[in-house]
Amino acid sequence: MGKSQIPSVLGELLFFLNFRKDELKGIHKDRMKIGATLADVDPMQIDCSVRFDGVGGLSDHISALKEMVVFPLLYPEVFERFKIQPPRGCLFYGPPGTGKTLVARALANECSQGERRIAFFMRKGADCLSKWAGESERQLRLLFDQAYQMRPSIIFFDEIDGLAPVRSSEQDQIHSSIVSTLLALMDGLDSRGEIVVIGATNRLDSIDPALRRPGRFDREFLFSLPNQEARKEIFKIHTRDWTPKPLDMFLEELAEKCVGYCGADIKSLCAEAALCALRRRYPQIYKSSEKLQIDVASIRITAKDFAMAMQKTVPASQRAVASPGRALSSVSKPLLENTLASILQALQRVFPHAEFALQKDQQPDSVNHVLRNDTVDSDEESPSIFEEKPTHKMPSREKEKFLRFSRNAYYQPTSCRPRFLLVGEPGYGQASHLAPAVIHALEKFPVYALDLPVLFVTATSPEETCAQLMREAQRTAPSIIYIPHIHLWWEAVGATLKATFTTLLHNIPAFAPVLLLATSDVCHADLPTEIKELFMDDYEEVFQIQLPNEEERRMFFEDLIINQAAKPPASKNSADSWVHRMTRGRHSQVEEQQVMCVDKAVEMLTQPVIVDYYELKQLLRYVTAVTKKYDIFRMERLYAVLCRCIYQHREDYDKTALVKEMKKEIAAFSYAQC
Ligand code: ATP
Repeated sequence: MGKSQIPSVLGELLFFLNFRKDELKGIHKDRMKIGATLADVDPMQIDCSVRFDGVGGLSDHISALKEMVVFPLLYPEVFERFKIQPPRGCLFYGPPGTGKTLVARALANECSQGERRIAFFMRKGADCLSKWAGESERQLRLLFDQAYQMRPSIIFFDEIDGLAPVRSSEQDQIHSSIVSTLLALMDGLDSRGEIVVIGATNRLDSIDPALRRPGRFDREFLFSLPNQEARKEIFKIHTRDWTPKPLDMFLEELAEKCVGYCGADIKSLCAEAALCALRRRYPQIYKSSEKLQIDVASIRITAKDFAMAMQKTVPASQRAVASPGRALSSVSKPLLENTLASILQALQRVFPHAEFALQKDQQPDSVNHVLRNDTVDSDEESPSIFEEKPTHKMPSREKEKFLRFSRNAYYQPTSCRPRFLLVGEPGYGQASHLAPAVIHALEKFPVYALDLPVLFVTATSPEETCAQLMREAQRTAPSIIYIPHIHLWWEAVGATLKATFTTLLHNIPAFAPVLLLATSDVCHADLPTEIKELFMDDYEEVFQIQLPNEEERRMFFEDLIINQAAKPPASKNSADSWVHRMTRGRHSQVEEQQVMCVDKAVEMLTQPVIVDYYELKQLLRYVTAVTKKYDIFRMERLYAVLCRCIYQHREDYDKTALVKEMKKEIAAFSYAQC
C-alpha cells in the first residue's frame, strides 16, 4: 500500500505523537469537516521513550530549548509579566547523525508529561511537495491549522532545505510559492509560544534566507560533531542498558579514538561490537538456517570487538569530507609528541582559550559556556535598573554605568587577533601530522578548513564558501579557521578570493577568539608580504618545527626493532588459543580436530626462538645515528621498509637472517638518500 493510501484514521494516529486515540477523536472530526488528506509519517520514527537524558553532549542546546519552548508552556505567567514573545521557530543545523531529530523528539516527550500533552508533528521537507499545483501549499496550511487546533504543538520539518531551498531566478515558481506560504503561515502564528516550528537541515546556506529573519526561525542551533567528552557521554547512553556496563576508563579511551564519529556512528559502533561478540561466541549461527539455542549471558563484549567494529565503521563525517583533526598515530607518536607539546604550549600564549580545550575532566558544554559568555552570571553588586520613589533619605543617584560589558581578564582568557603559523621544510610533518594533531587536541572548538578542495569542489563560488565559513567561525567562536599549505593556497587562489579572505579576516573584532591556524613549507621571511603580515614573528605567532632529536628517533624505532623483530611466529599465539578452546569443545569431531592442533601447538611451543638482543640493540643504535638528518617522511618510509622485512620473516624461529636483512636495508636506504 502506498503512503498516500494509508487509511486516514491510521495516518492521523501516526501523525500525532504524544496523543491517545480517545484524545484525538474530536480533532479527527474537525479534520473530516475540512476534508484533509492526511500526512504520512514513518511510524518507526515515533519513539516516545526518548528523553533529554538519552541525548549526549548537547546540554547547552537542551537548556536553550527548555527556555524557548518548554518554559513558555509551563510558566506562561513569567512571559506574560515581562511581555516576552517566545521565538516562533528555530533551526537545527549540522552534519547528519548529530542528534537533530533526536533532540526534537526528546523535546516533544519532555514537554508532554502528566496531564500536559504537546502535539508533535513531524514532516520531511521533500515529502510536503506534491506534483499537483497548489496541493503542497494546501497541505502546509492544513498542517498549521491542525497544529493550532491541537495547540500547544511543535511542528518539526526534517530536511527543511527540501521544502524551502534558496529561491533563485532559475528556480521554479512552485518552490517560491511554497516558501512564501510557509513564511506567511509562520508570520501568522500566534505569539504566545503555543506553536513552535523547528526546521532541521544539514546545510544552513541551502535554505531560503527569508526564513532566518527575526520572527521566523530566529534561533539557530549548530549540531556539530561531538568532541571527546560528548562522545563519551553518547557511548555511555548507548551502553547504559548493557549488563555488565563497560568500564568508564574504557569508554574514555573509545571516545578518544573515535574522532569524527557522530552520534549515529557511535550508536552503530556499539551495535556492531555486540554483533562481533555474537559472531565470535556463536560462529555456527551464521551457518545454520535454524534457530539455535544460545546462552545470551555467555556473550561477552570485549575491547577486541570494539576494535573490530571500528575497523568496519567509516564515520559519516569521513564519508563526506575528512575532518582536519587527527591524533598522532601510534607509530609517529614517539617521534612527534614532544614537538606537539611544545606547539600547544606556544599556541596557548597566543590563544589562551586553548587551555580550556586541553583540560581533561571538563563537562563538554561548561567549557563553551565559560568561553562564550562575556559576563559572569552573578546576582551580586548589580545596580537596580528600576525607577524608585525618591525619599528624602536617599542621596541623588550618581551617574553610573549599568552595563559593564568590558571583558574581565580575571575570569576569561583574552586573545587579540590570535594567529598561529606552523613552519617547517617540506616533509617536516607540519600539515600532515602536526596541524591535524593540534586540531585534534583542540577539538572542543569548531574548525573551519579553508583548504583548496573545500573552496573549489563545491557548487558555490569559492568566495561565497570562504565568506560563509568565516562568518560561521565568528558566530561559533571560540573557533578555528584552518588553512593548510598557506604558501600554495596564496598562489592558487585568485585576487578576488584573496581580497575576500583578508577583508573578512580584518573584520573579525580584535578580541573575538577566532584562531587562524595555518601551515607553510616556506619559511616566514620568504612568504608573500600579505601572509607575512598576518603572522607576526615578534608576537610568537610563528612556530618553527625542528627535526626530531636523537632520543625521539630512538624511541620511534625501538618497539619495531627490539620487540616486533624478536617476535616468535604468530602461530604460537593461536596455539595458545587452541589449547584454551579445546577445553570448551563438545562436539566429538571438533575435539578430534583440536587434539591435532594441540599436538602441533606443543611442537611449536617447544621450538626455541633464536634472537640476538645485543645485535638488535646495535641495529637500533645504527638506525638512530643514520637518520640524524632525516625528515618525518623519510623516517616513515624507512620504518615501512623495516616493517616489510619483519613481515617477510614472520615465520622464522631464527631471527638472524632478519637482523642481517634489516641492517642491509638501512644501509641501502641511507645510501640512496645521500
Ligand atoms: P539527519 O541530518 O541525517 O536527519 P540527525 O542529526 O537528525 O541526522 P538523528 O536522526 O537525530 O540525527 O540521529 C540518529 C541517531 O543517532 C539517533 O537516533 C541516536 O540514536 C543517535 N544519536 C545522534 N546524536 C546523538 C546524541 N547526541 N546522543 C545520543 N544519541 C545520538
